[in-house]
Amino acid sequence: MVPTDLPMTSALCENTIRELAGTYPFLEVQAITTTAYGRPVLSLRLGQGERRVLYSAAHHANEWITTTLLLQFVQDLAQAYQQEGALYGVPARNILNAATIYLVPMVNPDGVDLVTGAVELGTLEYEAARRLADNYPQIPFPDGWKANLLGVDLNLQYPAGWLEAREIKFSQGFTHPGPRDYVGRAPRNQRESIALSSFTQAVDPALVLAYHTQGQVIYWQFRDYEVPGALELAQEFARLSGYALEQPAYASSLAGYKDWFIQSFLRPGYTIEAGLGTNPLPLSQFDQIYGDNLGILVTAALGLPE
Ligand SMILES: [Zn+2]
Repeated sequence: MVPTDLPMTSALCENTIRELAGTYPFLEVQAITTTAYGRPVLSLRLGQGERRVLYSAAHHANEWITTTLLLQFVQDLAQAYQQEGALYGVPARNILNAATIYLVPMVNPDGVDLVTGAVELGTLEYEAARRLADNYPQIPFPDGWKANLLGVDLNLQYPAGWLEAREIKFSQGFTHPGPRDYVGRAPRNQRESIALSSFTQAVDPALVLAYHTQGQVIYWQFRDYEVPGALELAQEFARLSGYALEQPAYASSLAGYKDWFIQSFLRPGYTIEAGLGTNPLPLSQFDQIYGDNLGILVTAALGLPE
């Protein structure tokens, strides 16, 4: 059901989600908002456990392969559950009895559609993006596009050091809407970031994973916040995936979703930079990325044994 040989688009994501929900009635689908250009941002829920976790992907447009990753995980978990099988060696029943897993597989559908060609040349949307990109001629168009189609970098939209992030990005020349690194006029003033933060508050998860590409690294800290259990889980994720634990460069460690989550909830939040290469990563990396991350996705749902 999940196409791992086609570039992801918002329509493909939505169709896949509808198909999954049609096949596995225990999957719940909800739109958490609609973007500026009218695309739904969808969430999925499965499981009935006490431990709530929230996985998101594709905050950044040219990191759409992370959407495919989460959808494939949902399919494999749902199928294993229905067939009373196991995923990553853990009975699916145990996973879904222990956890309720919420997913937002495509936070930025407008941007993804630009990068994967679903926004066609000559359309209003395309021309609007093109004009914003003209401010930043050094960034490849549309492959270098990370923002939404209003030109705001959605992972610089959260109130966790946002003013500092603004100062840093402005000093680097990102003073206007564009393909990436523009923080917006205010934190949480874009539909996608408002919706995801509100959804997160409503779910009140024990942990969040935010999927990005690339680098094969895991970011698990925000400033000097001490989050109980965060390092232990990070170390386990690193062991399972082969990814490295990293301390972000100061300039890129602000105003992100996981930064905000750590600051607001004092619970483990991770940015996972999957795969290696130049974004958008080719689908030829998909199997490797899925193999590297399946252990993380299962373990994050279960948490570490007490
Ligand atoms: Zn990213």
